[in-house]
Amino acid sequence: MITEKAKFADVFKNVYLKKKSPVSLIHFLTNRCNARCSFCFIDFDNPNSFKNELTLDEIDKLTKNLGNTLLNVNFTGGEPFARKDIVDIAKLYIKNTTIQSLYITTNASLPERIIEFAKIIHDYDNKIELSFQISIDDLPKKHDEVRKIENLFDNCILTYQELKNMKNDKIKPSVNITVSHENCENIEKIFYYLVDEKKIDSLKCCIVRDEGVYSTPKDKIKKILKAYDWLTNKILEYQKNGKIKNYNTASIQGKIHNKKDEIAWKMIKKIYKTNDYISPCHASSLFGVITADGKVYPCEILEDKIVGDLRRHNMNFMELWNSDNNKNIKNFILDTKCRCTYECALSFNILGNWRYQLKLLSSLITRY
Ligand code: SF4
Ligand code: SF4
Repeated sequence: MITEKAKFADVFKNVYLKKKSPVSLIHFLTNRCNARCSFCFIDFDNPNSFKNELTLDEIDKLTKNLGNTLLNVNFTGGEPFARKDIVDIAKLYIKNTTIQSLYITTNASLPERIIEFAKIIHDYDNKIELSFQISIDDLPKKHDEVRKIENLFDNCILTYQELKNMKNDKIKPSVNITVSHENCENIEKIFYYLVDEKKIDSLKCCIVRDEGVYSTPKDKIKKILKAYDWLTNKILEYQKNGKIKNYNTASIQGKIHNKKDEIAWKMIKKIYKTNDYISPCHASSLFGVITADGKVYPCEILEDKIVGDLRRHNMNFMELWNSDNNKNIKNFILDTKCRCTYECALSFNILGNWRYQLKLLSSLITRY
């Protein structure tokens, strides 16, 4: 059994054979955000960016049409906690879908709302795993300057500690560093400050992507890659000495996730450096994106490959997912050997591809 609701046989057949319904979705709940990061892909100057968010009624309908193999949904934005009805949205996903985990990316500017959310949702369903990915990209002063919110760094640490203090293995905060042109020259200091001084023991990272209105300054590409390489190696070292525990390595699932991260980091470095193709992407089959106004895409990057507009299809996600248009998009992704450094997509590309299964299984005898 994978979850109380999704059946192991259905998930297995879908992931390894059919690849016809999503196992993970990213839902941009809103484009609104109180921060203004220089590397953000949202066009804050365009008032249309914030219009026409899906309503609760629409999300209710949507969540009743997400297939029978969905295991995880990522709430993101904008700042997802800017939506005051985020608790109701989470409850709809839990009530109407087969998810076992809810993953929320947040700038942690609203700690009280986050803590309350964790308590309410855990009371609502204590089997759902709640992961909070708190974005911290720099030392306190610079972090607040880059994101343009006073005391934001302190609120990130407060949120992390309060979630940790709940001492509940279903409530998992982690800090995520996006390596970008802003912080690449300072990454070592940031790492040691977070881990040694602020006692952050769950720390992940990603590499900035060209997306929306953001484009990486060309002269920074090598430095960004060097910093990302250093950081991923350091996280690996600290996982081995026990100072960082991103997953529960006493469990099979935790060991496999650790290995999956290691494989993904290597792939990301190679693709970032050489743009070489490594293996097929399962976006638009196992993985997809829903925008704040109800458009469905294979991923965050292929902005010209819209799968469809949920509002024009009575919020029926699976109708769009099984459409001829989506078949064409999947063929495009395969035929063009589409590749990128998008971590979420890579995770599912690794987990859903036979060629990585031996490596993943080797994690069971690896010492973390
Ligand atoms: S916190 Fe996230 S959504 Fe908000 S401006 Fe920064 S990158 Fe964009
Ligand atoms: S490789 Fe990247 S850009 Fe291409 S479909 Fe997958 S996630 Fe999207």
